[in-house]
Order: sequence, then structure tokens, then C-alpha cells
Amino acid sequence: MRLILLGPPGAGKGTQAQRLIDRFGIPQISTGDILRAAVREGTELGKTAQSYMQAGKLVPDPVVIGIIEERLRAADCAGGFMLDGFPRTVAQADALGDVLGRMGFDVDHVISIDVPNEELVLRLTGRRACKACGSGYHVQFDPPQVAGKCDRCGGELFQREDDQEETIRARLKVYADQTAPLIAYYRTASVLRSVNGLGTMEEIFGRILGAVQD
Ligand code: AMP
Repeated sequence: MRLILLGPPGAGKGTQAQRLIDRFGIPQISTGDILRAAVREGTELGKTAQSYMQAGKLVPDPVVIGIIEERLRAADCAGGFMLDGFPRTVAQADALGDVLGRMGFDVDHVISIDVPNEELVLRLTGRRACKACGSGYHVQFDPPQVAGKCDRCGGELFQREDDQEETIRARLKVYADQTAPLIAYYRTASVLRSVNGLGTMEEIFGRILGAVQD
């Protein structure tokens, strides 16, 4: 299965991607995760990406398209994959279509996870992750037993730099201006399914399963 998870920051793409990996055994490709790892490691890619990410702006198309082209050629993508956070512009979607076309593949499903903006701001401002094991929490909706400490490994929790409210508003505007047009783009290609992103993780997962198994 070749799947794209589309949705604004905070819609729950990463959480649902994890469940889809467990269910279908296909790799998740998150450009955000790849870029954050590059920033942590201080690579050339990381140095290029860092200022854009801190400002909540998109990293230039040629940079992310290059990352995706290379990643899709890896052996573990041969049986399918799930894209999380890519494409984010029409130019990226066109480039993805070209790369997949050259490989003889199509996108099977594009799942758009819909969540209202005010809910997204609440979710993102409270989001925390463990520095050591990456486990995710929310100060209000899913708090750790001891504030600031990971329940699983005792590691220190931190807030992503781009989860500050001002940056969140910038990211949501970028989504509305540059990424939301992909909903119409993929609807025209007849691969789009919209799911309601409000409810429990299980409810939302059930809706996604319904959409991909239709
Ligand atoms: P995410 O974790 O998907 O919210 O991505 C975090 C940040 O990484 C974004 O705000 C962008 O700065 C950058 N980024 C991730 N994916 C892309 C993409 N497909 N195109 C451009 N920038 C991206």
C-alpha cells in the first residue's frame, strides 16, 4: 500500500502513522523526523533546514524532494510506504508523482485528517516528548505521572522549539496557504479520503482503516 497522510500540524498524523505501521508493516517516511535528525546531527542538510523550521516555514522544495527521492529508492519501500508530512506543496506533489511514475508506482490513498484550528493550537502548545526515548505526552490530555518526566524511561520531557504558540500560528497559516490546496489536487485524482480527526485515537484509526480498506 502506498499512502499519504495529509493534515495540518497537530492533526495526529504521526500517532496514526505508528498504528498503521503496526497494522500493515509498511515504513513511515516523515520529512519532519528526517529534518529534525539532520538538525540534531549538525549535517549540511540540518544547517540548511534549521532556520526555516524554527520560523515555522517550509524548507525549500528542492531540498525535501531530494530527501524523498533518495528515501523512496530504499529497499524497505518496495512493498509500500506511508508519507507523513510530505508532500506539502503542489510542486512537491508533482515531483512525487514523477518519481513514483518512474518507479512504476501510483499513490493508492491520500487520507486527509481534518481538525479545527483552535483544537490544533491546544494540542500543539501542550505537546511534550521524551528526550531519551521519544515517547509523546500532552500536559493536559495525556500528562506524565510526574511532571516533566517520562513514565516509560524516566527521561526528561521537552517541548519542540516549533511548538511555541507564535510558531504554531505561522505553521497553520503555511498549511492553509501552501498545503491545503493538495486536498483539491488529490480529490481531482480520485484518491482523496477525508476523515474526521476529532475523537479518541482508536476512533480516528478506525475511520482511517475504513478509508484504506474500502
Ligand atoms: P512536521 O514534523 O511534519 O510538522 O515538520 C516540522 C517542520 O519541518 C516543518 O514546519 C517544516 O519546516 C519542515 N518540513 C517537514 N516536512 C516538510 C516538507 N514536506 N516541505 C517543507 N518543509 C518541511
